[in-house]
Amino acid sequence: MVEIFIGLEIHIQLMTRSKVFCSCEMISGEEPNTRICPVCMGYPGVLPAVNEQALFLSYLMGSALNCTLAQKTWFDRKNYFYPDMTKNYQISQFSSPVGRGGWMDYLEKGELKRVHIHDIHLEEDAGKMVHQGNFSLLDYNRAGSSLLEIVTEPELTSPEAAEVFLQSFRSLVRCLRACDGNMETGSLRCDANVSVNSLGMGLGTKVEIKNLNSSRFVRKALEYEVRRQSRLMQAGKPVIQETRLWNEQSGKTESMRTKEEAKDYRYFPEPDIPPFVPSEAFLNRVTSSLTELPAARELRYIREYGLTEETAHYLAEERERAEYFEELISSGTEVAAAAAWIKGELAKLQGRYAFSLSDGTLPPQAVTTVVRMTGTEELTVQQAKQVLELMVQRGIVQPEEVIAQEGFKKAEDDGELKEIISKIVAEHLNAAEQIRDGNMKAVGYLMGMVMKETRQSADPRTARRLLLEEIGCKQEE
Ligand SMILES: [Zn+2]
Repeated sequence: MVEIFIGLEIHIQLMTRSKVFCSCEMISGEEPNTRICPVCMGYPGVLPAVNEQALFLSYLMGSALNCTLAQKTWFDRKNYFYPDMTKNYQISQFSSPVGRGGWMDYLEKGELKRVHIHDIHLEEDAGKMVHQGNFSLLDYNRAGSSLLEIVTEPELTSPEAAEVFLQSFRSLVRCLRACDGNMETGSLRCDANVSVNSLGMGLGTKVEIKNLNSSRFVRKALEYEVRRQSRLMQAGKPVIQETRLWNEQSGKTESMRTKEEAKDYRYFPEPDIPPFVPSEAFLNRVTSSLTELPAARELRYIREYGLTEETAHYLAEERERAEYFEELISSGTEVAAAAAWIKGELAKLQGRYAFSLSDGTLPPQAVTTVVRMTGTEELTVQQAKQVLELMVQRGIVQPEEVIAQEGFKKAEDDGELKEIISKIVAEHLNAAEQIRDGNMKAVGYLMGMVMKETRQSADPRTARRLLLEEIGCKQEE
């Protein structure tokens, strides 16, 4: 039996307008080397100044992760040479990180789990190297962007747990609006460290894995690495402490370099930036910006509303979706209906028309009105869906307006419906004949016409019953 110890080192690009030590804008997708200045390029004699919003978001993250927040924090120079870092040092934090010793709770298959946070610290990002054939090109637009590093304790016990934790972490940073959480564009990046040891023997030799661009890669790379280390152990061979790269093509990790130690970086306090001492007002602003976090929300939806784990997760995962769900409920939609409409029709419309739940396209009160009208049979479910779609299409926020425009009303009585059905049957005697011969496919064909003729206002079950009666075919159960 072996024990697995996994820790994550997560980097998030903070959602600040400008970079962390200069006023260059932080936007991606620009022409290379157009968002740079003497400060982020590290020219001699320049003076960096800290972005207060970056500090605020760092303290907010620290607070959300239950860390002890620094009462005084400063920056250190981490010295190393690499072409993507023109200064030959990175401004980072070493001896006074923004937060230490916290934890994050997350849900794994409905069960609450806790992972401890070693520390979180603010630093600047490096530029990007683009390798083309025999050349390497450099784009410094990203250099100096605000980056927050979050280091967990090695407490995750399986590759799946690491994947679930990372997804939950992503949801948390998005909820706090600290980072957009996009792993494909590199706004959220993750390195993993893993060691395997015999049960009860504690940590083994740690191997770090880099180049993990999605939570799925994190799991796959860790699975591979756990197998590799277990095999070495069984063969009595040592595991070398090193950094390895995940190669998605080969599905393997490859040795990159043996790990540097902190002393290799010759850290020393950054002389150009004075220490930061958060004021009481600053810390109050941090506390008042905290909101219910996704894991807590998910758990509450399960316990309070009796939702399934899957539905609770879906609703709680994104803050705007969760808030919309709660607004639907407070405006009078029942819990189950609110969940079903968000997961079903609203998700479909969002996919089709690319709007967000919080942008006012479909105000929650309007959806509550439409859902209530299906309950009182003023609208069929089919019509209700149509009303919502037309509201989006026409930019109308009052459902009553669309209902009036379309003249939607539920068929008053069976008499009217019967008339429509006899007319349709009379015009399609062949289809009626086929149905009498037992070809039930033709029922769908005729039903389609009935629904079209009644502008979707007929209750499908009643219409079907009347149609079969008209044809003289016994209603099948
Ligand atoms: Zn700059």
